[in-house]
Amino acid sequence: MLDGDTADLLRVKRGFDLDAVDPGSTPGFSGDKTDGQAQLDAGTAELAELQERLFAASTGGAADSVLLVLQGMDTAGKGGIVRHVVGAVDPQGVALTAFKAPTAAELRHSFLWRVRRELPAAGLIGVFDRSHYEDVLVHRVRKLSPLEVIGQRYDQINTFEQKVAAAGTRIVKVMLHISADEQETRLAERLERPDKYWKYRPRDLDDRALWPAFQRAYQIALDRTSTELAPWYVVPADRKWYARLAVQHLLLETLRGIDPQWPAADFDVEQEQKRLAGL
Ligand code: AMP
Ligand code: MG
Repeated sequence: MLDGDTADLLRVKRGFDLDAVDPGSTPGFSGDKTDGQAQLDAGTAELAELQERLFAASTGGAADSVLLVLQGMDTAGKGGIVRHVVGAVDPQGVALTAFKAPTAAELRHSFLWRVRRELPAAGLIGVFDRSHYEDVLVHRVRKLSPLEVIGQRYDQINTFEQKVAAAGTRIVKVMLHISADEQETRLAERLERPDKYWKYRPRDLDDRALWPAFQRAYQIALDRTSTELAPWYVVPADRKWYARLAVQHLLLETLRGIDPQWPAADFDVEQEQKRLAGL
């Protein structure tokens, strides 16, 4: 079983040190892969029901939604989280956005413009596969923006996320933390299997060559943007089964915290039953 305080173990707090997190570890979980997969399966029905309740509550006027932000190096397993964790939920209840390098049109606006447009409506679980954090991660590493501009973005992000949270969205930010060795294994697999070539881009190796700089950029982003209302969780991701279980747990805890309620009927139930019987 995953410990009840796993979210707290994974949460980025003051003094957090990314280097000290072992990507092969399984915080809060003592079982093996088989146990982990069994627990993931056991959680899918509850996750699906909680989202359905979230949506139902929104039809009754509740403003709550959830936003899961996924970040991580290439091959960290973001797609697997979408398929194996979020995939348990009714597709109508999920708003998924994969953020690629901005288009020329998007570049004419502030970096948060395209993000704001994809925020989940009430009742939905929004998922960002990459996010506005690229504007302080890859931008810092590849010097795509001046350092002063990047420096201001952390505060802009915090202000933005506080507003989003105040409007009813619970923000869960996850860094899937893999080791350089595990990435090598996963990239090698992409290069060995014709059914994986499509996932590989030569560009991935250029990012890999900048690994230490990316880790530093992550450390800074985690330090500056893990807040009470929009916390970061660093999830060890060398074991895919653990990462999936941990993210499912974070979503379950978030939804349980909202505790969405089935809305009361806005019609006279008895009268409708009589009408139906009389037809
Ligand atoms: P992938 O998620 O592997 O399909 O790759 C998406 C690519 O888009 C990655 O190389 C990201 O670094 C890049 N990307 C996403 N958002 C931004 C951004 N705001 N600025 C620059 N590059 C970005
Ligand atoms: Mg990629």
